[in-house]
Parts: sequence; structure tokens; C-alpha cells
Amino acid sequence: MPNVDLHSHSTRSDGLLTPAELVARARERGVRALALTDHDEVSGLHEARTRAAQVGITFIDGVEISVTWGGQTLHVVGLHIDPENAELTAGLEQIRSGRGQRAARIASELEQAGIDDSLAGARSYAANPDLVSRTHFARFLVERGHARDVQTVFRKYLATGKPGYVPHQWASLEQALHWIKASGGIAVLAHPGRYKLDDRQRDALLANFAELGGAAVEVVTGSHTADQFVTWAHHARRFGLFASAGSDFHGPGESRCDLGELPELPAGCTPVWEKF
Ligand code: AMP
Ligand code: MN
Ligand code: MN
Ligand code: MN
Repeated sequence: MPNVDLHSHSTRSDGLLTPAELVARARERGVRALALTDHDEVSGLHEARTRAAQVGITFIDGVEISVTWGGQTLHVVGLHIDPENAELTAGLEQIRSGRGQRAARIASELEQAGIDDSLAGARSYAANPDLVSRTHFARFLVERGHARDVQTVFRKYLATGKPGYVPHQWASLEQALHWIKASGGIAVLAHPGRYKLDDRQRDALLANFAELGGAAVEVVTGSHTADQFVTWAHHARRFGLFASAGSDFHGPGESRCDLGELPELPAGCTPVWEKF
């Protein structure tokens, strides 16, 4: 299946396009199969699926679940999930409910760093009031001139250890995999090259993920370099995991990899879509 993109965001989380606009753009740019994987949220899937049927591309129901593992935040993508599944929707609702308080804490940290009104500012960028993310804070801080772009805001204010960073407890890896599997989905470890892991921790994570029923590793992603495509393909194989590919597109001009621009999986990978 050429031109498959199994990781993308809409305005239902921190993307800039509505689900329908996202699907239309994917179609225009040659994507044949697209998964919408909003953070901790499935409310955009119906709209995206409807538009995909109209424009004639294959659509995969997805989600990207925020997880705390070994003291850091990881993301697990669920593909072919059932957005109506009660265990999954209750789990996601629980994660989202923690985001409100977290946003208030981020705003109060930013206030101490001299930035006022960022809670209202971030909310003004969040089309989904249940899903205020750091990305919305970042857009507001760019608007206020605190940095020239979203990446720079993260580097200066929002990344781990920076003045506006607050630690947060997300779902456990076990919970996330349970919800995905309970809803009939396939679990993919998202952008593993972004995590701070030494070799031992990396292998512990992959072993734990595989043992809990995880199916694939995101090998090709906008977050990886070409060298990382090859090394993560190798690690996926070592643990008997399939390989996935996703742009992690958030919006025109804001993402490193646009829709339709994903490179092919490296040789020797077993694509996760063989399981579809
Ligand atoms: P949250 O779930 O609220 O912690 O927000 C996480 C989101 O922030 C990620 O999904 C990315 O969209 C965005 N993000 C995280 N780190 C960076 C970064 N260094 N540069 C740009 N965006 C980032
Ligand atoms: Mn995001
Ligand atoms: Mn992610
Ligand atoms: Mn993502």
C-alpha cells in the first residue's frame, strides 16, 4: 500500500485543520490511506471518515494516547480502534479530564516567568475545550512575541525542565494498550526516537510494549532522521514488532513532514498495514 500515513492531527486536538479539511488535504497530496490520531480524543473520526468516503481515500480510525512510563511521557497510537468502545472512551475521558488542571498549572508557571493571561490565550487557540495542549500555549506565546515559532517556544518554555513545564501523570502503558486492544485496535509506539532512553531503557520499553500486546513501532515519522528510520527498523525487528509510518502532521507550515511527503519504510520492515 503506497503513500500510507498513519499519524495525523486535527482541531479536535492540537492540529490546525478540521478533520474534513485534513482528509481533503491528504487526498490532494496523494495520500491513499490516512489515520486521524488526535491526542486522547476520538471525536473527529466520524467527520474524517465521512469526508474520506466522499473523496475516495481509505480512512483508519485512530487515536494517540498520552502515557507515563519510567517517569517520562510516551505516546502510543491506536489504529483501527472502535471509537464507540466503552472502555476506550472512558479511559480517554479520564486522561482528558486531567488536562484542565494541568493547563492552569502551566499558566501559573508561565505567569511566574512574566507571561500573563496564557490560560485564556491557550484556550482561545483550542477548538476543543477538553483538549488544551502545550501546542495551544505555544501558539499563544508566538502571538505575544515570546518566540518566533512554536518549536522555539517549546525549547525556551515548555519542554521538560523549562519554566512553563509541569510534570503530569498520564495513563500507564498497560492501560493504554488495554484500551486499544479492548476496542479491537492495533497499538503502535509513536516516534520512539524522541524519548530520552539509554540502550537498556530502550530495550526494556520495547520488551514491555511487546509483552503487553503492542504490535508495531513507528519507524518512519517526521520526528526521525533518515538514520533513525534504519535503527528503529532494526529494533522493531529485534522485538518481533511491525513497522509503522506517520507524518504526525499538525498543520501547514507547522510540521516537519507534510501530508504525502513520507518516505518509504526501509528495506526489511514488515509494514503494520499487513495486519489490516
Ligand atoms: P501535550 O500533550 O499537551 O503535552 O502536548 C504535546 C504536543 O506538543 C505534541 O503532540 C506536539 O504536537 C507538541 N510538541 C512537543 N514537543 C514539541 C517541540 N519540541 N516542538 C514543537 N512541538 C512540540
Ligand atoms: Mn501534538
Ligand atoms: Mn506524539
Ligand atoms: Mn502526534
